[in-house]
Amino acid sequence: MTPVGAPWMYGPGAHHRHLVCHCLLLELADRLVLVDTGFGLADVADPRNRLGSTFLRLVRPRLDPEATAAARIEALGFAVEDVRDVIATHMDLDHIGGISDFPHARVHVTQLELDRALARPTFHDRMRYRPIQWSHKPNFRTYGAQGESWFGFGAVRGLDTLPPELLLIPLPGHTRGHVGVAVDAGARWQLHCGDAYFFHGEVDRAEPSCPAGLRLFQRYVAVDNAVRLANQARVRTLVAEQRDSVDVFCAHDSDELERLG
Ligand SMILES: [Zn+2]
Repeated sequence: MTPVGAPWMYGPGAHHRHLVCHCLLLELADRLVLVDTGFGLADVADPRNRLGSTFLRLVRPRLDPEATAAARIEALGFAVEDVRDVIATHMDLDHIGGISDFPHARVHVTQLELDRALARPTFHDRMRYRPIQWSHKPNFRTYGAQGESWFGFGAVRGLDTLPPELLLIPLPGHTRGHVGVAVDAGARWQLHCGDAYFFHGEVDRAEPSCPAGLRLFQRYVAVDNAVRLANQARVRTLVAEQRDSVDVFCAHDSDELERLG
């Protein structure tokens, strides 16, 4: 995505003037699991109805079928039917649009997030949550916020039919039911932070930084900015204290995608 204000958001001369949709594909013994889905093929085919003209005009997503998760998974030699589970950090249109490309997958999301996405009580909610993206009636599996502890975070373990190496880490603020997804990958944990932060410098413990425009943008789209900042600080502490055991990345930072993708 290259928002209208991208040069302003990132500051003059910045080379990262676009936001990526960083999805995580997990290869289990018997299936694939996808964490976040970005935009899907239906979004590319019918962007006005699926995403809305305001979003298209202001956020300017690159709508390329080859860039969708479904196409990228097939390019890796897998079948889309092998994706049996999708975990959504939240239900914003740029994270959930691809679920219709995996119609038989269970879609794991917090109860809070699903409730809000279905109710859409505010104008802001109606912009970010697009019911047409789940009009195929996905098989949602929902979770409350209670759970065990994971590096000091409350964590939800035991996702329906998924192994215990996958955890939801509640990181509200950007949306009410927003979570990170932690994966025990053996030697190290991977933590997909969704939209808990947008810029890699924000989780730099020694010298946190974020271009001013992007900081304002995050504040504007957050449902609870104080809670968002508190959770971001906790992620920053995690990065500092568990550098040897946890890799952390967010959904929209192009540098992180380049480094890890
Ligand atoms: Zn997002």
